[in-house]
Amino acid sequence: MRIGQYSADDAVEPWTGVRLDGETVVNLPEAGVQAGVGIPRTTVELLSTWEWQEKTEMVVEYARETGTGLYDAAGLERHAPVTDPQKVVCVGLNYVDHAEEGGNPIPETPVLFSKFPTTITGPDSTISWSPDLTEKVDYEAELVVVVGREARRVDESEALDHVAGYLVGNDVSARDLQHGDGQWVRGKSLDSFAPIGPELVTADEAPDPHDLDIWTEVNGDRLQESSTSNFIFGVDEIVSFCSQAFTLTPGDLVFTGTPPGVGVYREPPVLLGDGDEVTVGVEGLGELRNDCAFE
Ligand code: ZN
Repeated sequence: MRIGQYSADDAVEPWTGVRLDGETVVNLPEAGVQAGVGIPRTTVELLSTWEWQEKTEMVVEYARETGTGLYDAAGLERHAPVTDPQKVVCVGLNYVDHAEEGGNPIPETPVLFSKFPTTITGPDSTISWSPDLTEKVDYEAELVVVVGREARRVDESEALDHVAGYLVGNDVSARDLQHGDGQWVRGKSLDSFAPIGPELVTADEAPDPHDLDIWTEVNGDRLQESSTSNFIFGVDEIVSFCSQAFTLTPGDLVFTGTPPGVGVYREPPVLLGDGDEVTVGVEGLGELRNDCAFE
């Protein structure tokens, strides 16, 4: 299933929905009421629901059969498929080719950092910042893991059972703040610096997460191009590693690192500016396109 959050033009609160083949979206809470299956409004609440996948599939089937809660996608606004997770965890260096590019040794264990959940924004939205605060804004194409079941001290062999699915993310980074502060939280956590989408593709329908093309284009120029087959740490290792230290809860996002080609290390550097358009994509999961604007 492809799960997103949507709103009609005049609606205040987005709702979680499933995009069917073609351009139809099932409003899960609305169809759920008619089907007698309680579905909460947001994706994080949905993923926290017992047997969420079975319930969602039941409601989608009901909507298909009865036409209840079906919307034309063209008339809906798309929001981030996941909002307000407890945590946004990120892996630092995780591509062999990226390590080689920078002359860095291959790390023996993942290096983790985080972004605040308030960084999250959706497909079609604008990445914005004040040029008085930062002059070095950069892109990072990433495969993002969405946690579907609480994970605390899970083995690698069981880790993927705790994954709801995958989506595309852009770990937007203010390099001057990231490198100037001595630690990364401010440079990684500006509002709107974590676009995700276009949808959460559930693990049962997602392709093998360790063999996916991944790329970035800025104003149509391809600047990052690699494959998750270059991962140093696989999704199972990362989820298990995180869970030894802290509990991963449903809806938590894990950004899995970026391949070579980020702007700050290019010669000459390519930094994002007012009016730029940045698109990141992952094979089988879709593309995420965002405009950039100065505040
Ligand atoms: Zn990153």
